[in-house]
Amino acid sequence: MKYNSPRGTRDLLPVESVIFRKTVDKILHIFKLFNYQEITTPIFESSGLFERAVGETTDIVEKEMYTFKDKGDRLLTLRPEGTASIVRAYLEHLSEFQKQQVTKLTYVGPMFRYERPQTGRYRQFYQIGVEAIGSISPLVDVETMLMGIHALASLGIGNAEIAINSVGCDVCRPVIREQLKEFVGSIVNDLCPDCQNRYENNPLRILDCKEPKCQTYFMGMPSMSKALCKECNDHFITVLDQLDENNIPFVVDPNLVRGLDYYTKTVFEIRSSLLGAQNAICGGGRYDNLIGELGGRKTPAFGFAIGLDRLIMVLEQLKLLPETDLDIDVFCIGIETEAQNKVFQIMNTLRKNDIKCEYYFKRNSIGDGIKQGLLFKAKFAIILGEEELENKTITLKDLTNKRQSSFNNIEEVIRAIKG
Ligand code: AMP
Repeated sequence: MKYNSPRGTRDLLPVESVIFRKTVDKILHIFKLFNYQEITTPIFESSGLFERAVGETTDIVEKEMYTFKDKGDRLLTLRPEGTASIVRAYLEHLSEFQKQQVTKLTYVGPMFRYERPQTGRYRQFYQIGVEAIGSISPLVDVETMLMGIHALASLGIGNAEIAINSVGCDVCRPVIREQLKEFVGSIVNDLCPDCQNRYENNPLRILDCKEPKCQTYFMGMPSMSKALCKECNDHFITVLDQLDENNIPFVVDPNLVRGLDYYTKTVFEIRSSLLGAQNAICGGGRYDNLIGELGGRKTPAFGFAIGLDRLIMVLEQLKLLPETDLDIDVFCIGIETEAQNKVFQIMNTLRKNDIKCEYYFKRNSIGDGIKQGLLFKAKFAIILGEEELENKTITLKDLTNKRQSSFNNIEEVIRAIKG
């Protein structure tokens, strides 16, 4: 029986793993400049957490969750997104955070959604996300979006664009919903079965539909921003003004709602035209009710997640991938037992001196050893043959120019390697 990775998942081989790690490190560096601190939460949580947080009538909860019972009969779900877990952790450790005017947390890790796999869409994918908890200030929205743009710019993506909208609050959301229902009412029979369901249960979700046929019907949709209450409208205007003031490019997308129910006021995506249908690299927004709904005191918050898989696709297309550092410095070859032991000890000294080396375990021949070294793209080979043992010398071969030098002790070899 031959096993493959489950549908919608993939292995990140060494080169890709280095690219992922380096990309994450660069982004985290920027997040830290904005005073974000890293938090790591479990990969699975009680299913109820996601049902409550993400929304029972969202696609994620209705169709996409990996839910299972453990041996203790607990209903658990592999996390489909990060915010619910962070809010759960925030509330569980409230005493750690509650004195801070804003708690800024960042997380990195795999997320799981049972979606139809396609380019840029996986069942296990990776996100790096942030949550700023505790402030209603529109400047939190602006600072967080600015940070997203800043992080992408640090990777070389200078031309990303923010698509932004406001989905209102408890006061104006019912008005928006009614307005939408009224508009959709006349065309509902022409929409896809999912949209017809959404029309009944969660009309705002209709705007999330990816069916091109449905999309064309949404063109003439009445603008949501016209139905916003004064507070939401003022908030939205301040956010847009401040984006302008800070020279952040944006477009208002009146149909942007995002696939999760917890958003209030600002929602946004950062898009790249290089991605085709799955063109969002980053998405997020404000969620002022979620913490209250999960049992805390009503606390405003704002967050986003960057999809690392898609981000790396963009970096690849733009030829902006970080350099991989898989090559080794020195390949160490000894054939006879005495030479082998000596070479093995030499490697201890090399590694203590921060030199990356590998040992020739196969011990067929020096020629074959050099070939192995070249496979690992080693810059040098250390060779200990009979002659070297007799003369108590160490041979260092530069594998780029093929020149060989003989040394009397390891310190000289290290000096030569370090140039
Ligand atoms: P969301 O959690 O749905 O707001 O998505 C945030 C970001 O995660 C998106 O902009 C995508 O870049 C990424 N993302 C979401 N779902 C997937 C998926 N199934 N496969 C790959 N990336 C995804």
